[in-house]
Formats: sequence, C-alpha cells, structure tokens
Amino acid sequence: MIPYARQTIDEEDIKAVTEVLKGDYLTTGPKVAEFEQAFAAWVGAKYAVAVSSGTAALHLACLAAGINPGDEVIVTPMSFAASANCVLYAGARPVFADIESTGNIDPSQVEQAVTSSTKAVIPVHYGGLPFRMEEISRTAQKHGLTVVEDACHALGGEYRGSRIGSCRYSDMTVFSFHPVKHITTGEGGMITTNSQELYQKLVDLRSHGIVRELSRFEKESPGGWYYEMQDLGFNYRMSDIQAALGLSQLKKLPRFINRRRAIADRYSKSFKNLALELPGDTPEAKHAYHLYAVKVKAEAGIDRKKLYERLKEQGILAQVHYIPIHTMPYYRQNLGTGWGDCPVAEDHYHRVLSLPMYPGLTDDDVDRVIEAVTNAFRI
Ligand SMILES: *Cc1c(COP(=O)(O)O)cnc(C)c1O
Repeated sequence: MIPYARQTIDEEDIKAVTEVLKGDYLTTGPKVAEFEQAFAAWVGAKYAVAVSSGTAALHLACLAAGINPGDEVIVTPMSFAASANCVLYAGARPVFADIESTGNIDPSQVEQAVTSSTKAVIPVHYGGLPFRMEEISRTAQKHGLTVVEDACHALGGEYRGSRIGSCRYSDMTVFSFHPVKHITTGEGGMITTNSQELYQKLVDLRSHGIVRELSRFEKESPGGWYYEMQDLGFNYRMSDIQAALGLSQLKKLPRFINRRRAIADRYSKSFKNLALELPGDTPEAKHAYHLYAVKVKAEAGIDRKKLYERLKEQGILAQVHYIPIHTMPYYRQNLGTGWGDCPVAEDHYHRVLSLPMYPGLTDDDVDRVIEAVTNAFRI
C-alpha cells in the first residue's frame, strides 16, 4: 500500500539522534537552542520557540496572545481539530468562518464574523497553500486582532516573496513536526515571532511559567537554588533527542520541498483532462504541498467515495482532509454548531481526496498513483 504521507528518515538522521543519546542532555539543552536558531533563520523570523507538538504550539500561541474566557477567535472549519481546540483550551469560543474554493479561509467571511468580542484569528495554510494574508492582516489591523498562522502544512511555502514563518503579516506562526509533515521530530512543534514580548511569554509558558533569571525575580534572590513560578505554564518542552532529528531534517528541507513540488507537477500534468479540481500556486502564493488534495467535479460520473475505494483496490491509500470541525459531535453538542453552518467547507469535504505526497515517493510510485487515478475514472 502507498500511504498518503510518510516520514523520510536516512542514516544521517539516525546518527544525529544516537549522538545525543551518548551526551549529557536528553531533554531541553543545546540542540534545542541550535534547532530554534536554525529554524528562525530559515523562515526569516527573529525568534523561534520549540515545543512538544503543533497542538502545544497552538495552545501557547493562544495564551501568549492573551486569549481569555469570553473572547471569540475566528478559525477555519477545514482543518485538523487542534486548529480550533486550542481556542477552547484557552477558555474562549471558536467562531467558524467559511472557506473559499482553495480550502483556505475566506477573508470576506472573516470580516463578517468579527464582533466586539473577537480577539484573534487563526487561519490555516490549507494543504500548504498560503491563505490570503494581506486581506486577513487588513481586517486584523482594522479591528485590533492578533493573527496566528497555523502553518502546520506550510513549511517551505511562500507568500509575496516571504517564506511562511517570517510573520510578515502575522504575530505568530505555528508549525508541527509530526511524521506526516515537511520535517519530523517524531512529535514536536515550533512557534515563530518577531516580538520579543511574545517570545518571552512563550518561553516561560513552555516550562511551567518558571523564571530563573536574577533580573526578573520579584525580590532579591536568597541563593543559587532560587527560582520563581510567575505564571501557570506547562511542560511543553522539546527534548534534545527530538531537536537533533529536527536539525538533521532541516538540512534536507530544500530537497524535500523540491521533490514535493516535482511530484505535484507530474500529477497536475497527468490529471489535467480528468474531472478533478487540482491544487496549485496562485499569483501571490507558492504552494508547499503538504497535501496534494484534489476535488472530484460534480460532472465526473464518479464520486469521492468511489475514487477512494478504486484507489484502495489498486494499493493506493488516499485520505480525506478534512471532516469539517464544526460538524464533530463535541462541537455540535457543546457549541451548537452543525451541518449547514459552512456550506463551502461542507461541499469541499464531500468532494476532496488527498493523494500520496511525500519526498520518499519514487518515480515508479508516482507512476503507479497516476495510473490508478486514471483507471479509476475509466472503469
Ligand atoms: C498536524 C496539525 C496540527 C497538530 O500538530 P501536532 O504536532 O500533531 O500536534 C495542527 N494543525 C494542523 C493544520 C495540522 O495539520
């Protein structure tokens, strides 16, 4: 079976991890700092904070943004549950704004969803295609909202010449290093920002809200053992074992992205005459192809379920991204959302399918996928 996504690990990665195991630091140490610096430099941000997962990164970003009970935060329904759950962790209310045909949040729907309680907006670069950041940023400035980019799909993507993560149009950007993402640390995440204040909050909250710098104590230190817990934080630290893997993976990122884009190119050329809507770059955005998500057109004579099944019969395990978050039982029961709230996202869900996309796919694998998809439409 060819899966829709998979990590790419080589001997160099294995060596980087085993070297750490022989050293002094297993949890947060010099490798974490090195990974943060290299990552910040690569995306073009001032600061990067490594954490234990993309979900932890989203949670900390919400807290650093000062999101509190009673606040509303505008989110997309077309994402993984964590993109909206993070708002609930902070005690606030996620408000769903519908998407456009690309799968990205619709800026006009965001503008319409703003109320006097809105504090922030957390759009997702769906599949790896940067959302319309200039429009979102304009709305945010008009209403005084914080913008957190959920860039878990978009490492390596670009918007108007800037890499995703540079925070040119946002306050913070969040990444995940789950094995299906562009680079992996097993589990892991990162937040980038250009704000010294947000950076300090994120660092504090990552490790119990404990402060160890003399200059920040509320009273004079009684001795070398002393520290102060100044905020209610968490243990969301990344380990040096994970960071060593992340550093090793980061070196290969340009190659990984080129391979993803080359695979997308071959798919798009091969599928252009099928009844499918295909993903691709826009004039302002360069796609990072975390996903290659196609949408079955209404006139196709085959629906998404049939396509999924016919691919599975031929050894291709495609996946659906996503079941809209607002239709999940928890959201329906606790927030009163439901089918019908976001018609564009719901139509997207019914027609979308993610084909295999990862750097380890060989040219032969890609040929097999192309043949299987072509066959599925011929039967
Ligand atoms: C993967 C993902 C997350 C969660 O990341 P984890 O590292 O699995 O916690 C959040 N948002 C989106 C859009 C994702 O794809």
